[in-house]
Amino acid sequence: MLRNLLSKKNIISVITDETKRKMLQYICVFLFLGFVSAFMTVFNILNEKGSLTVATSLFSLLCLVNYILTVKGGKKGLVISAVAFMVEIVVMLTFFVISGNPDGFSAIWVAMLPACGMLLFGKKRASYLCLAMLAILIFFFWVPAGRALLQFGYNETFMMRFPILYIAFFLLSALLETIREITQRELDRLRDTYKYLSAHDYLTNMLNRTGLAELRKKAAAEKELAVFMIDIDFFKNVNDSYGHDAGDLVLARVAEEIAKISGNEVCRWGGEEFVVWFPDAGKVCDPEKLRKGIEALEIALPNSEKMLKVTVSIGAAKGADNFDMLVKRADELMYQAKQNGRNQAVSDF
Ligand code: GH3
Ligand code: MG
Ligand code: MG
Repeated sequence: MLRNLLSKKNIISVITDETKRKMLQYICVFLFLGFVSAFMTVFNILNEKGSLTVATSLFSLLCLVNYILTVKGGKKGLVISAVAFMVEIVVMLTFFVISGNPDGFSAIWVAMLPACGMLLFGKKRASYLCLAMLAILIFFFWVPAGRALLQFGYNETFMMRFPILYIAFFLLSALLETIREITQRELDRLRDTYKYLSAHDYLTNMLNRTGLAELRKKAAAEKELAVFMIDIDFFKNVNDSYGHDAGDLVLARVAEEIAKISGNEVCRWGGEEFVVWFPDAGKVCDPEKLRKGIEALEIALPNSEKMLKVTVSIGAAKGADNFDMLVKRADELMYQAKQNGRNQAVSDF
């Protein structure tokens, strides 16, 4: 799984996908901390450090449990291991502060919490965690009752100033995480916009050829399918008589109506040509019904009392051939409809 997530092809999508990134981070952190504390346990045993040995061995065991929960527990496991890890970290750091072992150094690990917390738990949860840790620091370093519990004699300057340094780290980490979150949101929005634009026609909002190809790729294996090729009759006259804007409006309205009547995905194949793809030929609509529906359509032009009407010529092909063959056949049938006088539907079924 780890190798899968870390593969070169995957790494960018892992970083930009919040859930995948968190998962990878948790796995790395649990493995890293698990191994480090296991190593420290051996070291502590050899150096006969009683309480530290218990702490590091317990922590390494908890890392293993967290790792299993993350890898095997799905989304719920991820949440449980995250919450458990937050508690474990606070307990561990509190122990470090109290023991100070060695030479008061271990308390400095607390400074890692804001940045690591933001990365692992997100801004809101990490902020609660950091504030809880701040309260603990203040209790042990500033309050006489807390100081009395310390097992290491910290220097006065360190105890007074370390919580202030910690607050500065916390504020800086929160600021950086806010910037990261906003950037990520904007990135997601742009990705969605470009994904939509690359698959859709700007004017009619219907699929473009790329969009239809993607849709076909996602669909189940094609069996018998049907394809309609629809071309607006004498569309050039609309542009010539009422202007290009009116032509645009007609294209959008006709496309909308085709989608409504056919109940299927419509693709703007070219200028005033549309393809309707029926992945299941059993659910194909009646091409004649579609033709009549467009014929009956009245399109209101802005700033004009006049209602515009257009007709279409339709070629409808059905069969077990592949999509490209069916498009070719539907196009030939549409051409026949044009030759027969337009405003007609010619089908091979
Ligand atoms: P036919 O019945 O033989 O199909 O005649 P037609 O006039 O519809 O066909 P022709 O191919 O001669 O003209 C198609 C016109 O469609 C020409 C082009 O200006 C117009 N057109 C293509 N794309 C657009 C568009 O996006 N907006 C507008 N307004 N017109 C477009
Ligand atoms: Mg035409
Ligand atoms: Mg045409």
